[in-house]
Amino acid sequence: MLHETNDVPPAHLETVLTGLTQVEKDWLRDQGAAPDDDAEALAALAAVAGIARRAIRQLDDGQTLDGRTPGDQAYDLRMVCRYLQDLTTGHEAQAGLDAYEAWAAWKLTAGEWASFKDLADRLRRLLLTKDATAPRAAAPKAAGKKSNADILAEELTKRLGRPAPKGREARVKAVLVLGGRAYTGANSGGGLLHVTYDLIRPRVTRMEDWSATGCAEAYALDQWVYQNGFATADAAYEALCGTRATFKDGRIAAMDARTVHGSTGRFWVKRMPCENCQQWLKALGITADRTLNFS
Ligand SMILES: [Zn+2]
Repeated sequence: MLHETNDVPPAHLETVLTGLTQVEKDWLRDQGAAPDDDAEALAALAAVAGIARRAIRQLDDGQTLDGRTPGDQAYDLRMVCRYLQDLTTGHEAQAGLDAYEAWAAWKLTAGEWASFKDLADRLRRLLLTKDATAPRAAAPKAAGKKSNADILAEELTKRLGRPAPKGREARVKAVLVLGGRAYTGANSGGGLLHVTYDLIRPRVTRMEDWSATGCAEAYALDQWVYQNGFATADAAYEALCGTRATFKDGRIAAMDARTVHGSTGRFWVKRMPCENCQQWLKALGITADRTLNFS
């Protein structure tokens, strides 16, 4: 059995906790609750995978989370993610409650699960401590009701009108909100994951006139694909638009660095996605934000 160690820097756990969505935090608070239907069951499994992936990012940076070697711990968590992926979107995919039951049986004997559980318990203790000392006004229930649109509006408020990098080089950023979490992309021109490219390509009619690697929106989607570990474009599409979709009603907005009249330097100004992006965004059920520019 894994045992308590006192040498784990709380700041590392704290970083993981801060990066979790409300749904994931709710799962930590109330791990024993049995789901009522397929959708709830899938949401619970998605929350587990989300927590594991968030922790993996910290571990990959070499940060200790539970007193074990980060590499070993990350390996175990990746196994948990892979199993959950097989169960929910992979070849072994089952309806929500069936998948939940299969998972419940699996975790009784899987060593990787013991490793995840130890981490989840640590996170839970830290979360409950924070809940107990948090001001009443910031009750987690209210925060849990935030829609993707609300979260995007918050992200835009933080970014629009703020100073952007100087110079003449075109700089574009996009913020995509899916499943209560924001993913950002920039027009970096680097390579997209094959999964992301395969997800976009068949949904754009004028692909030959357009390079997806110039669009920040494509990179924001790439981050979503990467951070949620989708192995195929079909699995990612299923998660967005399928009958058991867990990432519905996504929202996106893009902004570019512009010189604003009467001021020196450049600032982030909102703009609509290009025509090509609008095609694939629409096909994937992601809505481009049309609220007024804040600049
Ligand atoms: Zn575009």
